[in-house]
Amino acid sequence: MFIFTTIEEFHSQLKNETISCSEVVEKYLRTIKEKKQLNAFIEVYEKEALEKAAALDVQLKTGIAMKKLHGVVIAIKDVICYKDHKVTAASNILKGFTSLYTSTALQYLIDEDAIIIGNCNCDEFAMGSSNENSAYGKVLNGLNETKVPGGSSGGSAVAVQMDMCMLALGSDTGGSVRQPADFCGIVGLKPGYGTISRYGLIAYASSFDQIGIFGKNIEDVALFLNIMARSDVKDSTMNLHQPVIDYTKNAHRKYKIAFLNQAVNNSIIDPEIAQKINSLQNDLIKQGNVANSIDLDLLDFVVPAYYVLTTAEASSNLGRYDGIRYGNISNVQNSELNEFYLNNRTEGFGWEVKRRIMLGTFVLSAGYYDTYFFKAQQIRRLLINKVLAIFMDYDVIVMPVSPVTAFNIGRNEIDPIATYMADIFTVFANLTGIPGIAVPLFSHSNNMPFGVQIMANKEQEVLLLEVAEMLSSFYK
Ligand code: GLN
Repeated sequence: MFIFTTIEEFHSQLKNETISCSEVVEKYLRTIKEKKQLNAFIEVYEKEALEKAAALDVQLKTGIAMKKLHGVVIAIKDVICYKDHKVTAASNILKGFTSLYTSTALQYLIDEDAIIIGNCNCDEFAMGSSNENSAYGKVLNGLNETKVPGGSSGGSAVAVQMDMCMLALGSDTGGSVRQPADFCGIVGLKPGYGTISRYGLIAYASSFDQIGIFGKNIEDVALFLNIMARSDVKDSTMNLHQPVIDYTKNAHRKYKIAFLNQAVNNSIIDPEIAQKINSLQNDLIKQGNVANSIDLDLLDFVVPAYYVLTTAEASSNLGRYDGIRYGNISNVQNSELNEFYLNNRTEGFGWEVKRRIMLGTFVLSAGYYDTYFFKAQQIRRLLINKVLAIFMDYDVIVMPVSPVTAFNIGRNEIDPIATYMADIFTVFANLTGIPGIAVPLFSHSNNMPFGVQIMANKEQEVLLLEVAEMLSSFYK
């Protein structure tokens, strides 16, 4: 029976002919069917995945050299465009809409012979932290089906967690890769803003959005980053990497690590999570690293600033979904244009998306712009300055990914503010544009996994991955 460990190991099995791409794809398709109740996929590309696998098997037999992702089976969050395939953002407003082009990041993976097995369920337009806001139904956590998988990229996380693919792509605007990775016990990387092209990623909040990677180990995630972190003239907000960086190289040394006082001494954090972070800090010191506690007194402002700025950007980005250019058209008879838009949007958007469009429109409106939007921008600037100062003295910052482990399905409906507040540790990296990674390390007494989040300065993903590797080998 095939068990996936790393891409390198999988490739050596292919070379030894102990496995074929077709067998591997068949195995994943079987698991997807067996785990259908988890609702991780919106669509499975069964036929084309099998065809691609068969073609790759022939190539290998005829002696054509394997590319870097030969036969690597991946799933994509349903906000990433893939030409001639449906893309819905888990929203009714895009029902039936087919992508006109392929996103650059995905194209880079296809060029290396990855096999795309399907597109994954998520919160509508990537807005949420529990994957309960989807027009295609909620996703369940494979480790405990009464719990959420996290969000918004919950389907992608569960697809990797439950072996329905090898790696998956998500998007992270405020934690949507790192938090579901944490809730599902896998690795989740959000690269720094501008590291991976956003061309072909459906926009939620454009100055925050970044495509991220889910995997079972850091080595594979680093390889994916190598392939995807390449410049693209179609995204003018990208950093230009000259020369191209190798994220898989792995030096080890002693590090200077900052732990945030306000993150562990915080009333909203689960005491077991706080205790593990504290003992990690002590272990790192024992191993000869510098691991100091520092203050970030702005932490209380990050969630409000994030929700003001992202809803403002979303209200503008989602203006294009009016029922004319994309997707759903209401059957209700309209006498005039405004009514036509109104009916399409009323039917097409779910509650959370409507709430955010209204909030965003409000904070941008003439009387409130200075009070909310402008203030939130000032906080963003202060946070960026603070981060720059921290990275003058430290290599990385470590904090929890989430104050809690995967919570029960339904909590979000009862207390949406608590769900917003739980984004406290992840939105920080998006507000400041720095890379962050969730690394699974521990198991809670409630049997759910959790880990830590590491953040490094902009364009320091190599360092980030090095520290991530060190921490995960620490607790092996
Ligand atoms: N939970 C956050 C939100 O709802 C993050 C979403 C995301 O990263 N796409 O906005």
